[in-house]
Amino acid sequence: MTLKNQQISVLLPVPFDKTFDYEVSGQIPDIGTFVEVPFGSRSVIGVVWGEGSNTIEKSKIKQINRILPIQPIPKISIEFIERMAEYTITRKGLALKLLFGNAKIIEPKKKDAPEINHYNPNFSVPNLNEEQRNAADLLIANADKGFSVTLLDGVTGSGKTEVFCEAIAECLRLKKQALLLVPEIAMTAALINRLTNRFSAPPVVWHSGLTEKQKRLNWRAILSGEALFVIGARSALFLPYPNLGLIIADEEHEQSYKQEEMILYHGRDMAVLRANIGKIPIVLSSATPSLETVLNVRTNKYNTVQIQQRFGTALMPEVGLIDLRKHTMPASEFISPPLLDALKKNLSEQKQSMLFLNRRGYAPLTLCRGCGARLSCPHCSAWLIAHKSSNKLRCHHCDYNIVLPKICPECKAEDKLAACGPGVERIAEELYAKLPSARTAIMASDVINTPAAAQELVDKVLNKEIDVLIGTQIMAKGYHFPSLTLVGVIDSDIGLSGGDPRASERTFALLQQISGRSGRAMDKGTVMLQTVAPENPVINAIAKNLKNDFIDLELQERQSYNLPPFWRLISITLSCKQEDFVIQEINQLALKLNRFSKNTGVRILGPAPAPFSKLRGNYRHRLLLQAPKAFALSSFVKHFLNSVQVSPRIKLIVDVDPYNFL
Ligand code: ADP
Ligand code: ZN
Repeated sequence: MTLKNQQISVLLPVPFDKTFDYEVSGQIPDIGTFVEVPFGSRSVIGVVWGEGSNTIEKSKIKQINRILPIQPIPKISIEFIERMAEYTITRKGLALKLLFGNAKIIEPKKKDAPEINHYNPNFSVPNLNEEQRNAADLLIANADKGFSVTLLDGVTGSGKTEVFCEAIAECLRLKKQALLLVPEIAMTAALINRLTNRFSAPPVVWHSGLTEKQKRLNWRAILSGEALFVIGARSALFLPYPNLGLIIADEEHEQSYKQEEMILYHGRDMAVLRANIGKIPIVLSSATPSLETVLNVRTNKYNTVQIQQRFGTALMPEVGLIDLRKHTMPASEFISPPLLDALKKNLSEQKQSMLFLNRRGYAPLTLCRGCGARLSCPHCSAWLIAHKSSNKLRCHHCDYNIVLPKICPECKAEDKLAACGPGVERIAEELYAKLPSARTAIMASDVINTPAAAQELVDKVLNKEIDVLIGTQIMAKGYHFPSLTLVGVIDSDIGLSGGDPRASERTFALLQQISGRSGRAMDKGTVMLQTVAPENPVINAIAKNLKNDFIDLELQERQSYNLPPFWRLISITLSCKQEDFVIQEINQLALKLNRFSKNTGVRILGPAPAPFSKLRGNYRHRLLLQAPKAFALSSFVKHFLNSVQVSPRIKLIVDVDPYNFL
């Protein structure tokens, strides 16, 4: 796209919501061209965004330093950044950072020679069963029909990966780029192997853990269109694909698609936006689709294809409840007799088991039996978590940690500190005491924190060097362990308390996914859920396999409380080191907001302390805005924020479609 004017506007990766004007003396660069420009006392690399505004005096306008020798980004990337910034109320300049993060990756080095992968869509095509074939055919039929969203809704172990690979193959046959988004990168090593075997070459990988050189090479290959098949975390969505033909969002229900720092956005939702702008199909894959997606299917905005059976001879596992109220156990024990019996039996039959507890460390609370003090983080409103392996008390929200104390920091009493409740380390300890011959391993994000560590552990499980895997939700993520036939859930009720409107949905998905690790091959699996609330609708639905009933009920609740996915929410959080000041500012903001929203139908909840009312020394208070889905809440909030001034001492965070309520 050619510009005619000697004055151009440039978007810079700086926290401003506007472009800046510059002058060019020689050849006028096209829109999308990378240019280096003076900005304050620095030189900054930005992107030519359009004609200049011609509002700056000729004597004051600065010249660009140089045009970078790289092809321009595609027009679609410009539109995508504009639209995503608008929806998420992100300053445009910040949104540009998503396109290239670090400017160092843009400029090629002399020795750079990107590897070009030659994919063969017909390389090792699996024999799909009938359900899989039908699902794959539907996805393939959408390949060149423009924008569509399809939910691939298949039970755990139904072979969704094989099915969406058929859509990827079709995209590659059409010589277009395909992007596979995954919620977290730690689980991808096994998946990448599978994909490499399927297409005869590895996908191009994108995530924050890559080295600068890898990023540079991969980024270039994506921009040039040579990288045809990309797999990545949510950040891969914003790369400058000139020829994107398909997006798959695997495990679309996963909350880790939501970025909670710096630029707040939901990777799945932005993926749908990108597909819409690019007029291409997107596939959302999950065994436990989000209520947002389910509602979009029910209102015919999205298509759906279903796979109801596990692949091969594998059956869905048998789910049973263990009512903990019927078993008297010492307060320091958490594995009930029936679960222990099942573990013993499994061990004697040389089958593998998994114990799930969504709590890292040894104990979630350390309490002084002398004075009743609960040891908490001095910087956050959170308890300190005991970690026996490192002999530390740690805050899971900031870096604060101390050596496990012997005396109570409050009353100085000796030997009165008691660990309350279990974490995975404590379960491992109890299991060792009760079943010493079992070989165990802990799978939690503080121990397994790199793709390599995850792969090593997965290999050990596959080689049957581990009998019982004890871990947190990272175990729920798509792993396929053929000999694993027993899943025990230590505390099924953990996520259900508190006021989080998504608690039921999240717990249902997590329990279903964890259960889905059981009995995925020859032997039928069992799931045992320890609970003190067997009548709770979530627990009941899991036990009786009433997925649709649960969804119906939950959707009704959400509708009656005007919650997502029926209504939209946006939160405005103010944070600062001084609590009284933040309260004063939020109260003022609330007054103005109430005035601003009069007769609009927007409802305002709060101000109230935010989830984690104190975080890293900052006090946080929050307003929550609620509006019907059809109301343009983002633009309303943007207008409101443009009309008010908040003290520069205060940090203001806007979260469109917030997910954190606890
Ligand atoms: P899901 O993602 O639906 O839980 P996967 O895609 O991981 O399931 O598939 C489960 C297992 O079944 C994997 O080991 C996969 O390789 C195998 N599988 C699924 N479909 C086929 C097929 N058509 N041919 C061979 N193996 C398959
Ligand atoms: Zn802390």
